[in-house]
Amino acid sequence: MQGIIKFFEEYLGVMSKQRKAVALISGGLDSLLAAKTVIEQGIHVEGINFFTGFCVEGHTHAIRKKDKAKPKRNNALWSAEQLGIKLHIVDIIEEYKDVLINPKHGYGANMNPCLDCKIFMVHKAKEWIKENEFDFIITGEVMGQRPMSQRKDTMPVIANESGADDLLLRPLCAKNLPITLPEREGWIDREKLHDFSGRSRKPQMTLADEFGFEDFAQPAGGCCFLTDKSYSDKLVDLWSARGRKEYDLDDVMLLKVGRHIRPKDNFKVIVAREDGEARFMQGYKKDFINMNCASHRGPLALIDGAPTEKDLLIAAQLTARYGQGRDAEFVDVTIREKDGTERSVQVKPLAADEIPQAWFI
Ligand code: SF4
Repeated sequence: MQGIIKFFEEYLGVMSKQRKAVALISGGLDSLLAAKTVIEQGIHVEGINFFTGFCVEGHTHAIRKKDKAKPKRNNALWSAEQLGIKLHIVDIIEEYKDVLINPKHGYGANMNPCLDCKIFMVHKAKEWIKENEFDFIITGEVMGQRPMSQRKDTMPVIANESGADDLLLRPLCAKNLPITLPEREGWIDREKLHDFSGRSRKPQMTLADEFGFEDFAQPAGGCCFLTDKSYSDKLVDLWSARGRKEYDLDDVMLLKVGRHIRPKDNFKVIVAREDGEARFMQGYKKDFINMNCASHRGPLALIDGAPTEKDLLIAAQLTARYGQGRDAEFVDVTIREKDGTERSVQVKPLAADEIPQAWFI
């Protein structure tokens, strides 16, 4: 008799166990909706946001004048707040380098290794749920929405190669995919999941409306700068100038700001395009030779690489070109070494037609 009682106690315990899921939160609408769909089914959800350094999140929005109207916020945290869940922000900057430098599945239209990136992030989430005794993983993927990582043939690759297999639930398109463990075990009702597919955003907008979400972030090409052509071109240029594929967080940040001009292989000039960028770049003055116009108002410029004295004069002419003395006969430019020692040179600003197009990265 006691055995039967114990059996029922254990059985009821298993039946009533609060199931827990971790949701990959990018800060965009899809991950927000996916997490909400699962929360609505009584699952305890916590969010995880992986920081690669390339995330679009609140960086240039906080700096550029043209993005002034956009809210200066971390959208992943904002999503967590909307959902009323805890958010774990995990720094993967170092580990991510191998994903970006040697992607097994290659790059997308630009330097975005989306398939390897998703595999890596889901794999990290799998490790996380194991350590934290959670039951499954949620992502906001929609079949057919993104050309590389959200295709019918690549979505199973993410589940397999990450090692997550049927622990990976994609609530927005689950009905188009094989059944997963949480559905099979009855923790989740498959009927209440969705069958979104394709590039249309209408189903997401309708669902957002049903859930009462407003003012959510809608990243255009993807969740990071690697989908951006201009950013990718600068990264490729950096690797080619250094002769090896390597980078650190400062490189990642500086590729997001300024006009990048490479007159020669051994140096490039990063010229601030507006006051916000100039203030941001001030923080790098100890790491780079830098210059600005002394006789006229003008931008701050950082010089990357190993310029010769002659190269610094070209850099000064470029710096003068982007200041208010661009039409003056001569402009005084202050050149500052990394240790702060200063000297002044007088240069003739380069005219627009004297700057070869090939210099612009
Ligand atoms: S857009 Fe960037 S963060 Fe998103 S999957 Fe692609 S590489 Fe990864």
